Amino acid sequence: MAEIDILVSEVGPRDGLQSIDSIMSTDDKKKWIKAESEAGVREIEVGSFVRPDLLPQMADTAEIVQYAKSLPNLTVAALVPNFKGAKNAIDAGVDKMCLPLSVSETHSKANLNKSHEEVLAEIKKIAEYIKSLDEDKRPEFEGNLSTAFGCTLEGKVSEKVVVSLGAQMMELGCDEVGLSDTTGYANPIQIKRLIGLLKSEVGDHNLTSMHLHNTRGLGLANALASIDEGITTLDSSLGGIGGCPFAPGASGNIVTEDLVFMLDSMGLKTGINIEALIEVNKTVKTFLPNEELYGFTIDSGLPKGYSKGGWGTN
Ligand code: ZN
Repeated sequence: MAEIDILVSEVGPRDGLQSIDSIMSTDDKKKWIKAESEAGVREIEVGSFVRPDLLPQMADTAEIVQYAKSLPNLTVAALVPNFKGAKNAIDAGVDKMCLPLSVSETHSKANLNKSHEEVLAEIKKIAEYIKSLDEDKRPEFEGNLSTAFGCTLEGKVSEKVVVSLGAQMMELGCDEVGLSDTTGYANPIQIKRLIGLLKSEVGDHNLTSMHLHNTRGLGLANALASIDEGITTLDSSLGGIGGCPFAPGASGNIVTEDLVFMLDSMGLKTGINIEALIEVNKTVKTFLPNEELYGFTIDSGLPKGYSKGGWGTN
């Protein structure tokens, strides 16, 4: 596979679909994931191993994982809230698991119904279980610091707590940590400062990913600030579908098409064909007739005479 500069990790099938009322059929999810993978997207968070009575949108995640694993050149990721979810994810064959720990403990209790101590205990159990598996069966395990830049319930969160929880997750056996602006509160200066603080605690190579929401329109500015600080994986959602059902007002991930347009036009390689990606948006729109998809690139189209890779950089 050709080298890339930035890994765009599509989270729409998880973060997007879990926060809307419509339930996408298993077949449509498969079509979406296949089309996006064919457009060159190399990592997709395909679902969440949560109790189906809590999030019926995610009830078919094991089947979706198994299907996505049949697609070439795709890292299949899933969210897991606890040990049970992690075990199901591993049984389904995920390449990568992400467990969110809300830095705001109030949000943690609302979202996972667990205190920090309880979530850390789950992380420990999962890491020990992964170690007990044959090496070729071990998925990558990321601990994700959600509400790292502020919380709709608590307001400001302490950067000291973010750093300390990140360090604890690494000590307990996570392969890496990631930062999430779950609520869309972050600004570029804050992004740079927190990445620096956390990296100095856990090491440069253990913090490579950023999960951003575009709630206040700062998503792409924050993405660029993250790249400036050495972040190489950015989460985004096709058509900006998404939010968090347990953080009211926290709408919409950054839009995959807009992110890819920014990176591509700057000459940063993503491996993604933007024209193909725009076609995927049109397809997925038909799967969600009652939901609003958004994005500037989709609304305006590509610039006249646009040619891929570094357009406008000379
Ligand atoms: Zn999110």
